[in-house]
Amino acid sequence: MIFDLEMINAFYKDLSVKIAELRKKLDHPLTLSEKILYSHLYENQRVSSFKHGVDYVDFAPDRVAMQDATAQMAMLQFMMAGKDHTAVPTSVHCDHLILAKSGAEEDLRSAGVTNKEVYDFLSSACNKYNIGFWNPGAGIIHQIVLENYAFPGGMMIGTDSHTPNAGGLGMIAIGVGGADAVDVMAGTGWELKFPKLIGIKLTGKLNGWTSAKDIILKVTGLLTVKGGTGSIIEYFGEGAEYLSCTGKGTICNMGAETGATCSIFAFDKSMHDYLKITGREDVAKLAEANKNNLISDPEVYKYPEKYYDQFFEINLSELEPYINGPFTPDLATPISQMKEAVKKNGWPEDVEVGLIGSCTNSSYEDISRAASIVQNALNEGLVAKSEFKITPGSEQIRSIAERDGFLDLFRKIGGEVFANACGPCIGQWARKDAESKKVNTIIHSFNRNFSKRTDGNPNTHAFVASPEIVTAIAISGKLTFNPITDTLVNSEGVKVKLSEPTGIDLPPHGFGNIEKGYQKPSLKKGDEEIKIADGSDRLQLLVPFEEWDGRDFLNLPLLIKAKGKCTTDHISMAGFWLKYRGHLGNISDNYMIGAVNYFNEQTNSVLNQLTGEYAQVPGVARAYRDSGKGSIVVGEENFGEGSSREHAAMEPRYLGVKAVIVKSFARIHETNLKKQGVLPLTFVDKDDYNKVRESDKIDITDLKHLAPGSKIRIILHHSDGKNEEILAQHSYNEAQIAWFEAGSALNIIRKSNQ
Ligand code: SF4
Repeated sequence: MIFDLEMINAFYKDLSVKIAELRKKLDHPLTLSEKILYSHLYENQRVSSFKHGVDYVDFAPDRVAMQDATAQMAMLQFMMAGKDHTAVPTSVHCDHLILAKSGAEEDLRSAGVTNKEVYDFLSSACNKYNIGFWNPGAGIIHQIVLENYAFPGGMMIGTDSHTPNAGGLGMIAIGVGGADAVDVMAGTGWELKFPKLIGIKLTGKLNGWTSAKDIILKVTGLLTVKGGTGSIIEYFGEGAEYLSCTGKGTICNMGAETGATCSIFAFDKSMHDYLKITGREDVAKLAEANKNNLISDPEVYKYPEKYYDQFFEINLSELEPYINGPFTPDLATPISQMKEAVKKNGWPEDVEVGLIGSCTNSSYEDISRAASIVQNALNEGLVAKSEFKITPGSEQIRSIAERDGFLDLFRKIGGEVFANACGPCIGQWARKDAESKKVNTIIHSFNRNFSKRTDGNPNTHAFVASPEIVTAIAISGKLTFNPITDTLVNSEGVKVKLSEPTGIDLPPHGFGNIEKGYQKPSLKKGDEEIKIADGSDRLQLLVPFEEWDGRDFLNLPLLIKAKGKCTTDHISMAGFWLKYRGHLGNISDNYMIGAVNYFNEQTNSVLNQLTGEYAQVPGVARAYRDSGKGSIVVGEENFGEGSSREHAAMEPRYLGVKAVIVKSFARIHETNLKKQGVLPLTFVDKDDYNKVRESDKIDITDLKHLAPGSKIRIILHHSDGKNEEILAQHSYNEAQIAWFEAGSALNIIRKSNQ
């Protein structure tokens, strides 16, 4: 079955006309990103030559996808919007809540018990609102989207930061918060600052031990975790055409680590073939017929410096494998320099666990290449020195990897296959002895490696590499092992060298039952009841946030001045807390508990100005809220980087935080704060961060005059009686100011449907 073929047909039918009209209006050669963005303008959006990185534009994405951890809050919000069904095709995927502990079967069974009420809620809400529901075990959201929903030239949003994975099939796919998903599901325009464009030309061809993953590991190192912010990364060149569709997906997936809005590749044969083998030949034909509209114009490829805001080239023939980390995905080290880096930085050299798979790297190509290394190792009499874990991205992939003997090979070398779910990639790994907080090293082919992300242990040094390199390193047991140059000693004491990996892009015997685990919305009478258990501590109906009362925020105590990196994992931790993602009251007890307090360098310990004592952040925030005041949060650069989780914005709103003032924001988090009615402000002079003191009371003034581009006067009242005035800025446009005034963006939709 091809999902939503009618919608896809309609899109391609209009595409040529839309692009022709666009050419007349813009009168310049078009990049692929521009073609897709302009052909998805919302009905009321005026067309003009939008300034990249400046103009806010309303879009009409084709579809929405949500994973279970974020879908709960998104659905709870959608329920307040007053709609009967979603305006665009939407899907929900149960992948984040499955604990990786005792192997796939047992873990799935226990997830069905522990998460029953959440799955019942999501499944019933999907039925009511005509949303496709993918049961636990069916697979991870991005893999399922690539296998079933993505189409070249389309535009989608997803409540998960790695939604850009669908760029591997030529789609503009953007990670957003649940409130954004509600906009699209409710049929209103979805607003985005028109992205800047980064062009990356890939020349040459991958060879030997390098793979698509190494391209994005290098790009993340080049751009850093902030360099892609507000931009679409568009890849092209002959090197791109040699890459498989799933390899392209890997690059787009991990592009999220640069802060990029999304990444994309132009339509080519690899996409055509992937569509065909996944049962979507009709879509492949439609894309083929529209090919010229699914690639950039020839002039763009000829003079890329003229048409991209930033441009660079990577020669794939010279690229070597990379290992990124620990603790951040942009610390990129070429494998040839790893020995030196390990020594210099004192990283633990022994690797305890190697993990492959996840939504990022579990294609047939990835699995078959990793399996070829394992086969070679077994033939040579080698055993794996590290533990080895495999997380298939979908039931589809798992079943064909089983059918074609790859999983058996992994088992032979001691590998353990986890459920088709996020598991260790999102702190859902019941890793033995993790609570002992031992200093240790692991290496995985996931995309993100912030502190505590896999096992909750802050001393786990997590490194990211391709599945091939992870597999080789797991066999060697050493982070310093370079399979290109080094040898290993086998069980007979003989030195052996691993052969270069070999693999197959697409399964020669095809994919199996593509829809296994899918629940079609039933729409039968009687199915409209949404199930929320009485007294549930996992689900809680939302109460609309209050409107702004029109007054400045005066004398608000500082809740926390966060020091250094403050990702959404620090703001609203995953792992144990995932189970409260549908209960705003309960999950708010994790607010900022991972952030480091600038004044005492501790986590979850801040001064309560009401008592003069140190206490946990959520408790102090509640005390300030309940005293009728609320509070202010201060932070540093790229605040809120990482995932799209809107809990990181709903929690402060719920706990009475009125404003978050930082040196700079990550895009999704800043938008999420605006949507939930919390003021995101940035210091005009970043050094003013240093002026904020622990016992400050803070005024935020001029709110009545909040206007696009206006400055906000902030007065710091120090406890020694001195006051200091500083300036902050914001990125609100007119429509967003209305969100702030209404108390949240959702309040506006809700009122329009009353
Ligand atoms: S990045 Fe990890 S947590 Fe996120 S969807 Fe992929 S596997 Fe799941």
